[in-house]
Amino acid sequence: MTSREAEMLRRAGEIAGKARDYGASLVKEGAKLLDVAEKVEAFIIESGGDLAFPINLSINNQAAHYTPAHDDERIFHRGDIVKVDVGAHVDGYIGDTAITVEVGTHHQKRLIEASSEALEAAISIIRPGVSVREVGQVVSTVISSLGFQPVRNLTGHQLKQYILHAGLSIPNVDDGDSTILREGMAVAVEPFASTGSGVVDGRTSGNIFHALRIRHVGDAAVDSLVQAIEDRRGLPFSERYLYKSDPDPDNFSRHLRKLHRMGIIRPYPILSDTKGGLVSQREHSLLVTADGCEVLTRV
Ligand code: MN
Ligand code: MN
Repeated sequence: MTSREAEMLRRAGEIAGKARDYGASLVKEGAKLLDVAEKVEAFIIESGGDLAFPINLSINNQAAHYTPAHDDERIFHRGDIVKVDVGAHVDGYIGDTAITVEVGTHHQKRLIEASSEALEAAISIIRPGVSVREVGQVVSTVISSLGFQPVRNLTGHQLKQYILHAGLSIPNVDDGDSTILREGMAVAVEPFASTGSGVVDGRTSGNIFHALRIRHVGDAAVDSLVQAIEDRRGLPFSERYLYKSDPDPDNFSRHLRKLHRMGIIRPYPILSDTKGGLVSQREHSLLVTADGCEVLTRV
């Protein structure tokens, strides 16, 4: 980790942290998910960052990977448990952070605190030499002691330039992985707490995609979308991003289908608790330092 790399991570972390809090402030009863997404993503760009991934606005039993489509009419309802998960990058150095907001009510305060408290407990033990299973054990102990299930098949992850899920996974339970954290590693830690099974699966495709195989297909409009996908340098992108990149938006759905059919893109499934439980999430990006860690997304 050079000092320049650390500086890029700090800049990305600050932008992501501010974007997360701005997003949380916009989540209100009756607000459109699409408006919140567009405002937060514009904020990241105006702040001098770029999107590390599309904003995730996953609600209630959805744990992750919901972002609105370009024509999405969904609104937030009173009582919704909304995970606002944002990612900004500067020159590929990524800040990834999330918070959970309850819309208009306070029925799930403990659920929301469970993921926050688990994250703070994890931060308090992270330093070089600590294993990822120890982090998972702390997260799981805090969430279980508050009466909830840690989500065991979602994990935090290492961050590398232009690679969102790089190398290490940081589990939310003791998964037996004794890999140790080392000074200079950047990691995102993201406890999820559930009132249901603590297991998520994905049965529906969402509006977030990744590139499988970049190739041009000889159709000018589709090829300009391929160029837009290539510009993401391997980072995830949204259906909205593709729509805005389409020179012939009247035929957008045909172009999107073609990208699928040609094996160029693949959607991420929306991940939900298998028993329909409510899910909360809190996340920070951290830099492991000589004697602890620096929280990059705390603003
Ligand atoms: Mn995240
Ligand atoms: Mn993450």
